[in-house]
This record gives sequence, C-alpha cells and structure tokens, in this order.
Amino acid sequence: MPMRERTLLLIKPDALQRGLVGEILARFEKKGFKIVGLKMLKMDKALAKEHYAHLVSKPFYPDLEKFVTEHPLVAAVVEGKEAVEVVRLIVGPTNASRAPAGTIRGDFSNSTSRNVIHASDSKETAAKEIHRFFKPHELFDYSVNVESYLYASDE
Ligand code: UDP
Ligand code: MG
Repeated sequence: MPMRERTLLLIKPDALQRGLVGEILARFEKKGFKIVGLKMLKMDKALAKEHYAHLVSKPFYPDLEKFVTEHPLVAAVVEGKEAVEVVRLIVGPTNASRAPAGTIRGDFSNSTSRNVIHASDSKETAAKEIHRFFKPHELFDYSVNVESYLYASDE
C-alpha cells in the first residue's frame, strides 16, 4: 500500500503579495492532497535561521532571511499518497527560471530566490518542519462521506 504522508508547504511572501495563495493551494487539492493544517504567520529571524540552517553560511542568506521575515507567509500541511515526493514534483526545482511549465515554480516564477513556495525535501525533514510550524492541535484528522452533504436535511 502506498504511504499516506504529510508534508509542509510554505507559500512564500512573494506569492502572498502577488495574490497566488488560492491558486497554489488549489493545485494540491485538485491533485488529491488534503489540507490538514493551515495558517498565516510571520517568521522571525530565529525561525528563519532554524528553517534554513543548511543555507546560513551561503552568500545569499542575508537576502533570503530578509525576504522570508519581512512579510507574512502561509504555512500548510498537506496529506496524501507519497506526499513528500509528489509535492516536490508539483513544486518544481529550486531555480524557477528553469522549472518545467506545469510545475508551480515553472508557472509562477522566473527566479531562484523568489520562487513562491517551499516544500519539505524528505520524510525526515517533513516531520521536523511540520513540528516547527504546527502544534499537534493545529493539525486535523478529518474525513466525511460526501453523501452526507448530498442528502443533508434542508429543513
Ligand atoms: N535560495 C536562494 N538562492 C540560491 C539558492 C536558494 O535565494 O542560490 C533560496 C530559495 O528561496 C530557495 C531557498 O533558498 O527556495 C531554499 O533553498 P533550497 O536549496 O533548500 O531549495 P528548495 O528546497 O526551496 O528547492
Ligand atoms: Mg529546501
């Protein structure tokens, strides 16, 4: 049986400023992923340093930190079949200028730094990143038989 997995998305400040949040979330919903956590937040410098620990020594880090801390972003946890790997495929490669059309980065960005979205890169990272941005009670395990809506009483 393919694995039910959860992974973390950050819809970055550039996407919020450009009004792309709905379109980006819709792509995951249409593919069959379920939103199980969703919030808007502002990252502070400590959170940025923790989240991008693998990049702190890079020359572009100061610009990255300023970019992700200056304005709010939207964090989401999505759940579905092989979510970690499949979500990364939907997101596309880091350098959006070279990302294939049909991927989120390929369709909405032409930049490596302002590439509209973050997604966890492995199951281990996903577990850590979900914990970093969401408390257990902010994640929801929900499902309903849709027929209960189709046959709901309208009295
Ligand atoms: N980044 C950047 N310049 C670079 C490489 C990365 O500004 O040359 C930024 C970019 O926003 C990227 C983030 O740092 O999404 C994290 O980099 P990573 O290599 O983890 O790429 P990702 O996992 O986001 O594809
Ligand atoms: Mg990464």
